[in-house]
Amino acid sequence: MTDTQQLLKGYSDFHQRYFRDEPKLYERLHRDGQSPKVLVVACSDSRADPALITGAQPGDIFVVRNVANIVPCFTSKVHSVGSALEYGVKHLKVQHILVLGHSACGGIKALLHDEVKDSDCIDGWIAHAAPAKDRALKKCPIDSAQECCERENIILSIENLLSYPWVNDRVAAGTLQVHGWHFNIADGILYQYNPVTGKFE
Ligand SMILES: [Zn+2]
Repeated sequence: MTDTQQLLKGYSDFHQRYFRDEPKLYERLHRDGQSPKVLVVACSDSRADPALITGAQPGDIFVVRNVANIVPCFTSKVHSVGSALEYGVKHLKVQHILVLGHSACGGIKALLHDEVKDSDCIDGWIAHAAPAKDRALKKCPIDSAQECCERENIILSIENLLSYPWVNDRVAAGTLQVHGWHFNIADGILYQYNPVTGKFE
């Protein structure tokens, strides 16, 4: 179990590596600002850290994380996700948006089984993913729908990305690509959504 003392040790290692041993990266990032090419929408889950999974270095990925890697549709004007998307697309001009979901997602489990009806915040948030639940339950019985729902939710988030006009315009112009990945925390395998086949491969 990592407590804050262990995190401070981790910080000490990080500082040694990036500010003493190899200071050029942060010197450049400080001088020139960030220019990540990829925006990642990932789950808050502690087991599915996009920077760790991808080996991204500081400055490489612009990340927004939330319960169940949800992208609400544009009309909902949800400011945390929407503002990150707007900044990433309009100002940083990222070339890729990646929705990263994962297996055993607690948010998706709660959505599937209506586990958080009395919550203050969670149920209203995961309700944005309700269409993914509907689609998954058309394909499989609820007891085996977890992975299917996680993947439908990634596809739904991609669809909702395109409801943001400045995302849609850049995708149509060919200057922005959207991707869906599903990370299996049991075996570490990463599956990529293929929009041609409609499958994760
Ligand atoms: Zn999750």
